[in-house]
Amino acid sequence: MDFALTEHRRALQSEAREFAETEIRPRAIELDREEAYPEEILDALGDQRYAGLTLPETYGGRGEGLVELVLVIEELSAALMPVASTLALHLGVATVIERFGTDAQRERFLPEMATFDTVGALGLSEENAGSNKLEMGTTAERDGDGWRLDGHKQWVTNFLDADYVLTYAKTGPDADAPHNVTAFLVPTEAFDVDRVWETLAARPVKSPRVSLDSVHVPDEQRVGEVGEAYVQRGEIHTGVNVPARGVGIARAALADTVAYTTEREQYGRSLSENQGLRWELGKMAERVDAARLLTLRAADRADRGAEMGRAFSMAKINATQAAVDNANDAVQFHGGVGHTTDHHVERYLRDAKLLTIAGGPNEGHKDTLAAETIADYSP
Ligand SMILES: Cc1cc2nc3c(=O)[nH]c(=O)nc-3n(C[C@H](O)[C@H](O)[C@H](O)COP(=O)(O)OP(=O)(O)OC[C@H]3O[C@@H](n4cnc5c(N)ncnc54)[C@H](O)[C@@H]3O)c2cc1C
Repeated sequence: MDFALTEHRRALQSEAREFAETEIRPRAIELDREEAYPEEILDALGDQRYAGLTLPETYGGRGEGLVELVLVIEELSAALMPVASTLALHLGVATVIERFGTDAQRERFLPEMATFDTVGALGLSEENAGSNKLEMGTTAERDGDGWRLDGHKQWVTNFLDADYVLTYAKTGPDADAPHNVTAFLVPTEAFDVDRVWETLAARPVKSPRVSLDSVHVPDEQRVGEVGEAYVQRGEIHTGVNVPARGVGIARAALADTVAYTTEREQYGRSLSENQGLRWELGKMAERVDAARLLTLRAADRADRGAEMGRAFSMAKINATQAAVDNANDAVQFHGGVGHTTDHHVERYLRDAKLLTIAGGPNEGHKDTLAAETIADYSP
């Protein structure tokens, strides 16, 4: 077993870290405070084809796997989490097209998606389809040579600057679940925007509620087989980006706290010379390493086509909670200035909290983990 990254992966990690440190981190506090869309940063990610990181080179992508995705996402999230989520959700949409779309769809959408000239967003959740997406109310009915879509989607990250929403709709009766959901690429201009929330986290990139009122979608924009979209979603594992975002925040919180507590002096010694605080720095490092190892293991299993079993749920629960715990400690150890926008740590805490909810709340992942654990350890 080799825990060392290959030279190629180390180079990619350094490249992403350099990008995050120079292009994102110096502007992160201002972007968050102004709730300003990170347009130039996303354009630069497109220019450097991070927007096609995991897409095949034949479609203009960089041909990387999920291990590489989590390495890049950790770096971006350490600088500004919503940049990482925008990229990851876009890549999730592109991956569904690549895996389950037609050749014509791959040729039409993927080269432009690889450069962010076409931006994808995910329309899965609804008001009454949160943890349980199969309770969605959006429907698609046959309409001549295409489909007629009615319903709404909620929390569509990056909707306001996206071109297409990969929209999941019921095309069969509930008795057929989960084989009753079909996915469509619906242009964003076909939706009405119902609500854009003010939020605790992810302030620069909005996730509004949007609706569809008898919108005709040609069959060429159906992605994958009729009725199979929900099952096919389970076969792609770009969701490992969520724990990777947790690793990024947990690591950034630790790095900022070491820097601050070794510099700041009280009682004639640096804060980090107090044993109680030193031990907590060690604990924060332990959380980062455990979260990263679990996340890389899940990504590696997905890349090798191995059974995911409990690997994903463990990574999701551990890494997102590590982000919350480290960000919380970081605010505490920065004292009063930690809860001001002079420092990054108060944002880490807000952005970390989102991660225990988005990508499926951790409680649902605990149910999955428990079921897998009992199955694995039953005599
Ligand atoms: C900022 C943001 C961005 C998002 N982006 C997207 C996106 O781009 N596309 C998209 O489709 N969706 C997106 N989501 C939706 C996200 O995946 C859902 O919010 C999430 O799945 C939870 O659904 P819910 O909010 O309706 O919570 P609910 O399902 O109502 O759950 C509420 C709470 O109940 C508890 N709970 C839930 N299930 C269990 C259980 N089994 N056992 C015990 N307790 C439980 C948890 O504490 C949970 O947080 C986003 C959400 C947010 C907030």
